[in-house]
Amino acid sequence: MAQAQCWPAEGKDLHLATLITDRHRQVAKWVREELSPEGTRHYFDVWHIAKSLGKALDAASKECDQLQLWRPAIVNHLYWTAASTPDGNPAVMEAKWKSLVNHIQDIHDHDTPAFSSCAHGPLDGDQRNKEWLDPGSLAAVKLENIITRTALLKDVRQLSPQHQTFSLEAYHSLILHFAPKHTGFSYVGMYSRLLLAAALQSQCQPLRQHGKVMGRRSYATSLMKALQESYTHSPAALREVSANLSSDAPAPIAKSFEQVNKEEAVSLFLARQSRYKRT
Ligand SMILES: [Zn+2]
Repeated sequence: MAQAQCWPAEGKDLHLATLITDRHRQVAKWVREELSPEGTRHYFDVWHIAKSLGKALDAASKECDQLQLWRPAIVNHLYWTAASTPDGNPAVMEAKWKSLVNHIQDIHDHDTPAFSSCAHGPLDGDQRNKEWLDPGSLAAVKLENIITRTALLKDVRQLSPQHQTFSLEAYHSLILHFAPKHTGFSYVGMYSRLLLAAALQSQCQPLRQHGKVMGRRSYATSLMKALQESYTHSPAALREVSANLSSDAPAPIAKSFEQVNKEEAVSLFLARQSRYKRT
């Protein structure tokens, strides 16, 4: 990603309107310099930011139990900040996020025009009896420090409002499940495994909080059962499908290299060896 010429879209009329990544600083810099001038909007995946926020809260909670109590609500508020701002307006997202400092102190009107009062309705009954933080208390000060950290605010302004990368990450882990990297599969084997992973990914509802996919196993089992039943009745159809797939298989990559004769290969090898010995 470090060099512009590596970018596959260049010169191919492929314009990226939106790019969502984790918040890797070097990637962000590259996108800002190479893609943003072309109009690409770069957003950060919420999950990655929520994860580091959670860590900061856990560290602070060691001294303040009250913060541990608020932890799930604080992380939810980060997701809500992004999801409730479909146009990704940075100022609105920042104001919504910072309103949390007030909300947790039982203050629901804010002096930021971009978000002047909490979006929840009037609080009554149980909703009123929360463990509100006392203004100026250690917990309130610690929380404010975490929420208004410059680096976090910068990330919040770039939160991805609609799409997150967790489904892609879940898909990658699903591929690894069916096609582990330590095993070399044939073309047809790899193709079938990718299809299976894609079918499962499209059928199963991603579980938002953890980027995991639910219900994979039962779907995989029923899929395999259905295939088995259908091909038990018509083994010829299975043979035909399998033959068609195999005929589509491209030649091994090694075939695309130019073959050299043995003498030439030996002398190239020896030349390489002597070069290593010199250094
Ligand atoms: Zn509120």
